[in-house]
Amino acid sequence: MEFVGQRKAMATEPVRGYVPCHYCGHCMAGCEVDAKYTSANTPIPLALKTGNLTVFTESTMTRILMKDAQHIQGIEYTKADGGVDAIHCRALVPACSAVETARQLLINRSSDHPNGLANSSGQVGRNLTSHFGLTVIGLFPQIRNRDYSNDDGTDYYHGLLTGLYWDKPNPNFEGTYQVQCGSGVHPLSLAVRNVPGFGAQFKQQLRDVNITHAAMGMQGSLFQSPKKFVDLDPERHDRYGAPLPRVHLHYEANDIAMAQDMVATSEEIIRAAGGTVYSSPGTVSAAKLVIDSNHWVGTTRMGRDAKTSVVNRDGQCHDVPNLFIGDASIFPAYPEKNPTLTNIALSWRTAERLAEKLRAGELA
Ligand SMILES: Cc1cc2nc3c(=O)[nH]c(=O)nc-3n(C[C@H](O)[C@H](O)[C@H](O)COP(=O)(O)OP(=O)(O)OC[C@H]3O[C@@H](n4cnc5c(N)ncnc54)[C@H](O)[C@@H]3O)c2cc1C
Ligand code: SF4
Repeated sequence: MEFVGQRKAMATEPVRGYVPCHYCGHCMAGCEVDAKYTSANTPIPLALKTGNLTVFTESTMTRILMKDAQHIQGIEYTKADGGVDAIHCRALVPACSAVETARQLLINRSSDHPNGLANSSGQVGRNLTSHFGLTVIGLFPQIRNRDYSNDDGTDYYHGLLTGLYWDKPNPNFEGTYQVQCGSGVHPLSLAVRNVPGFGAQFKQQLRDVNITHAAMGMQGSLFQSPKKFVDLDPERHDRYGAPLPRVHLHYEANDIAMAQDMVATSEEIIRAAGGTVYSSPGTVSAAKLVIDSNHWVGTTRMGRDAKTSVVNRDGQCHDVPNLFIGDASIFPAYPEKNPTLTNIALSWRTAERLAEKLRAGELA
């Protein structure tokens, strides 16, 4: 098992006009000096400075316009005041997130694309996956009388047990999981939420539970299968009249088997470290699993074969050459890792390949 400190993507020296981190420890509440990477505060301001980026805020893409069966002409969008306008383009890169990008392709069906845009493979909306998890909490009475520390400002999850079973697969299930290890006393996130009462009893509880606890937050790769997908709701529509998406999710035997191992392993780690298990899901059932609905990927998957995938390795749709997908929906597989860095790496590569193709005159 490998244990690593959690990485936070903060600059340790001045980069492109951004000041470096001064280690105040408040990253999770937002960085006052923008030393911590975020899309909104790091690449977008840099791109705006080039003069090549225009941001249309409070605008929603409502339709994709076609020049002919194989080429995008642009988009139609609705502005905050309700007005409708259009933008024409040489290439379009939707990056609306895994559920919404699939919906956009599915609602833009036509006689040339009867199953939805770029969906001759039938894979748009399929292969949906995310992460699911459970939490086990242990108490370590030997540190009960330690001095109270002010942990406001540090992140709760300090360390990570990475990729269990990546090197030696478990015979009972496919896939990997990780364990985020949290501890410390964070007035806002722990005491108020988990400890009842006030006065002396409240302080006692803080010592008994909060100071001595460690949480094992487990995150596993949800098994990809035909039972997990996005399609269009035949009844419910958005304010522009287009069908809303439906997310179909079923926990399967693989997910339950992985979850059982998660719980048993975390309990074993706590006991081996001299602690006692304070709270645990115990025997796992589908009802106890928690899906991470922020981590959806996979609905326009990448692949070499146009019959079994939606985009190629450049993020370019097999069916529509000037349509690229720039978000997490193109992931062809999904281990237990958080998605953002892979998402950024893939969209970076797509941007480079798109620029090369435009320079070479390959796109309309
Ligand atoms: C609370 C929370 C915590 C998270 N924590 C982590 C973490 O610690 N680590 C990690 O790796 N990941 C984390 N994630 C997941 C990560 O943020 C997502 O995986 C990632 O943002 C997905 O990127 P995306 O480009 O696919 O979609 P998004 O980032 O969702 O971007 C889609 C954009 O498209 C816009 N859009 C959608 N439809 C339209 C339309 N029709 N017209 C115009 N615009 C449209 C949306 O407004 C949005 O701005 C977290 C997510 C959340 C919500
Ligand atoms: S919030 Fe503080 S610790 Fe975090 S990146 Fe910004 S300066 Fe550094």
